Amino acid sequence: VVEKELPGVSTGAEERKMGLKGSSTRLLILEDVKVPVGNLLGEVGKGHKIAFNILNIGRFKLGVGVLGGSKRVLHVTAKYANERVAFGQKIGGFGAIQAKFGEMVARMYALESMSYRVAGSMDQSLEQIDATSDDYSARSMEAIEEFAIEDSIMKVFGSEVAQYVADEGVQIHGGMGYSAEYEVERSFRDVRINRIFEGTNEINRMLIPGMILKRAMKGQLNLFGLIQSVDEELTKPARQLPPGAQEPGLALERFMVEQGKKVFAYAANQAIQKHMADLRDQQEILCIMADMVMELYAMDSAVTRTLQILGEPSSEEQTKLAHAATRLVCTSGFNKVRLLAEDLLCHIAKGDKLTPHLEAVDKLTFVPRVDTITLRRELAQAALERERYPL
Ligand SMILES: Cc1cc2nc3c(=O)[nH]c(=O)nc-3n(C[C@H](O)[C@H](O)[C@H](O)COP(=O)(O)OP(=O)(O)OC[C@H]3O[C@@H](n4cnc5c(N)ncnc54)[C@H](O)[C@@H]3O)c2cc1C
Repeated sequence: VVEKELPGVSTGAEERKMGLKGSSTRLLILEDVKVPVGNLLGEVGKGHKIAFNILNIGRFKLGVGVLGGSKRVLHVTAKYANERVAFGQKIGGFGAIQAKFGEMVARMYALESMSYRVAGSMDQSLEQIDATSDDYSARSMEAIEEFAIEDSIMKVFGSEVAQYVADEGVQIHGGMGYSAEYEVERSFRDVRINRIFEGTNEINRMLIPGMILKRAMKGQLNLFGLIQSVDEELTKPARQLPPGAQEPGLALERFMVEQGKKVFAYAANQAIQKHMADLRDQQEILCIMADMVMELYAMDSAVTRTLQILGEPSSEEQTKLAHAATRLVCTSGFNKVRLLAEDLLCHIAKGDKLTPHLEAVDKLTFVPRVDTITLRRELAQAALERERYPL
């Protein structure tokens, strides 16, 4: 612990920032600081472990925190859309505005589902450690480290959902959104930093596939088993028949998650085969892989949560909304995963060599099409009626 009174510790001038005006930001300058032995946390030479875990937890908390901010933006924006009249109509009644509200709600539902999932899993994992044991700290750190991938996903996905919500919040306010008189102007400035601190979103994106591949190599994650089963599936002449859009138990959404994971495995395998050890330098490919993983994690989390809601007593209205949000998250996510895979493969193979890869993606992604416009409308109407995040 470096105390601010120690000789050699000083701070730079207060920084004038775009947002977060309520908090102080200064450089922390350390010049030949001598830290007393009694201030040592953990073991000499192992401080990075503590530091990295603080970053991990910080990334998770950022993802959850921005969800709260997004809920506030949705609330003030829905209120505004119910008051502002243009062309003789409340702007909340316009389809172009409803599409924005619907999308905001769906993305927030995905983020909220991920937050509950990671928090619950982390709690369960930490509860298993005996708090009175001598190695409690070391084991807690190991347990927290297990969630490093999820923490990076929460950070990147969360900060980008929040950015989207704040941006559309301003847009729905029209010119008033650009005025400092309205709260969304501040939200828009404040939210921007979340994509930068706690490790920029570029750095976190690159960490995600890096950590996945490392765990797959160590046998902690069965990526290579999935790659093998996808290869076997692709050798069969018929493609897997998808469930109908009306089948109960989120059958279509579960299918999209499973097929999406196969598409990721297929594309990742091609990237690994082509680049081998050099993959860590292929930043565009790593970012595409990270985007696929994040979409799949969001889809999977929304599905898992909604299945739980379906199994519990809850109002028909809430169940319907959760279902609509999940269908929208899965349809958009699945489409993104397919396009991302194609982007990756188009870079890796050219001409005749590319054709079988695109055919493989087509075969894996055959699903019934979904009317996303109606889903967005349903979610938007609930948000506007309640003037808040409706789930
Ligand atoms: C308001 C505020 C509060 C902060 N609070 C803290 C704090 O409490 N503690 C703390 O330690 N820090 C804090 N920071 C610092 C913050 O964590 C860094 O600004 C952030 O990590 C980015 O580092 P950088 O500014 O050096 O950007 P750079 O590293 O210069 O990055 C510039 C751009 O290049 C990209 N880039 C950099 N390296 C690579 C690479 N290898 N590959 C691909 N792209 C790359 C980045 O993603 C970014 O887009 C704070 C910053 C701000 C603005």
